[in-house]
Amino acid sequence: MDCIFCKIINGEIPSEVVLESKDFIAIKNIHPKSPVHILVMPKAHVEKTDSISGKNESFWSDFMLFANGVISKYDLDKFGYRIINNGAGYQGVDHEHIHVMGGENWRPSDGL
Ligand code: 5GP
Ligand code: ZN
Repeated sequence: MDCIFCKIINGEIPSEVVLESKDFIAIKNIHPKSPVHILVMPKAHVEKTDSISGKNESFWSDFMLFANGVISKYDLDKFGYRIINNGAGYQGVDHEHIHVMGGENWRPSDGL
């Protein structure tokens, strides 16, 4: 399968891994849009149709708990942070992922 995130996960494409568990991995975004911009994803190739299907009941809670580890690691609970999960036309890579964004003195430019 031609998935850039699967290639990162299996080591074909290098990345900076910041946190890893049995089921999830967090890497630095290659084009950061905030001082801390981490991509968090399941190690398995899960696409939106699967992730929102509810077949794996604990998927999103496990995912968010893991993402909270990234938030703690970068002290984003002190600086402020934003979590983004893109879908459909907003999503560039089909492998499910969330963006953890934040850092000292950073504010999203859209004001939300
Ligand atoms: P999306 O728009 O799908 O929510 O976000 C995909 C993200 O993946 C983009 O922010 C982009 O910068 C990031 N990205 C794309 N290719 C690579 C890569 O090869 N390595 C890393 N670390 N991030 C990537
Ligand atoms: Zn994939």
